[in-house]
Formats: sequence, structure tokens, C-alpha cells
Amino acid sequence: MIEQTLILIKPDAINRGLLGEIVHRFERKGLKIVAMKMMHLKDSLLEEHYAHIKDKPFFPGVKKFMQASPTVIMVVEGFEAVEIARLMCGPTKASQAPAGTIRGDYALSVQSNVVHASDSKETARQEIKRFFKKEEVLEYDKIDFELLLAPDEKRKR
Ligand code: ADP
Repeated sequence: MIEQTLILIKPDAINRGLLGEIVHRFERKGLKIVAMKMMHLKDSLLEEHYAHIKDKPFFPGVKKFMQASPTVIMVVEGFEAVEIARLMCGPTKASQAPAGTIRGDYALSVQSNVVHASDSKETARQEIKRFFKKEEVLEYDKIDFELLLAPDEKRKR
């Protein structure tokens, strides 16, 4: 099934010059970038996005970290994109993330773990709406699509 998911490229990645490499990972996997922008994340947006950790003692640190520079926000689309993007990012605790995952290759920390990806299809729908207006998520054909998938894998959401 073709799905969309939300990716954040966090301030540690921006400051360390890893933006291009991380975008490249998703492109090379065969996922299509259908929305992309750079934003300073305000308190209210971060509190909404991280509502599930808002009461944790480490949340003030996460907030400071996420506001250290702009963040790049993308929507990527493709076959089973939600699960694939999570697998590509690796576990939250980057020190335990396997080599070959983005966190495993580029990060050491549980907080400063370079990237975010939506954790379920429903979360992806909510997170895409949180960061993008409907008209900012673009529909276009990319010529590699025919090569990437078997016919029965090309069904849309
Ligand atoms: P994920 O981003 O892998 O979905 P969570 O939703 O649990 O993980 O946490 C959101 C973000 O909060 C993490 O990506 C990380 O930046 C930060 N975080 C999570 N747990 C901790 C922790 N124990 N200490 C510091 N920061 C944390």
C-alpha cells in the first residue's frame, strides 16, 4: 500500500551538516518527497507534537534541543512508507541503533537522535496535518515509480 509519513530532520543534523545525507537516504530508498520546508518550531507546536512526553523530566531538554536551530520537515510517500521510515531511522536510543539505520550511523544520544518519523499510519495522518496545509503536500508522478514496485504493490492509500 502506498502511504505518506512525516519526517523531521532535527537541529543536531542541521548543525552537523547532515541534512543532505539524510534526505538522500530517503530518496535512495525509493521514497518520494511530496512536501518539504524549514521551520523554527515554536513552543506550542512542540508541546502538541511531543504531547506523549510532555510530562517527562527530560522534556524541557528536548524542547531546548529542538529549538536550537530550524528543523527540516518533509512528507515522504511510497510503499509501506510509515513502517519503512521507522525502520530506516532505527530505535530512539541512538547508542543502540543498528549500523545502517540513520540513527545508528549518525547519532549517539537518546535526545539528539537526528531524525523523527511518524510511529503509525494514524499518527502520520495527524502529524502531516500538523505541519502542512493540504495544498503544500504535492501530487506528482516520478519516473522511477514503475521500476520500484510490483503491480500489486502500487495501490494508493
Ligand atoms: P521516537 O522519536 O523514537 O518516536 P519518542 O516519541 O519516545 O521517540 O521520543 C521523542 C523524542 O524525545 C526522541 O526522539 C528524543 O529526541 C527525545 N527523548 C526520548 N526519550 C528521551 C530520554 N529518555 N531522554 C532525553 N530525550 C529523550
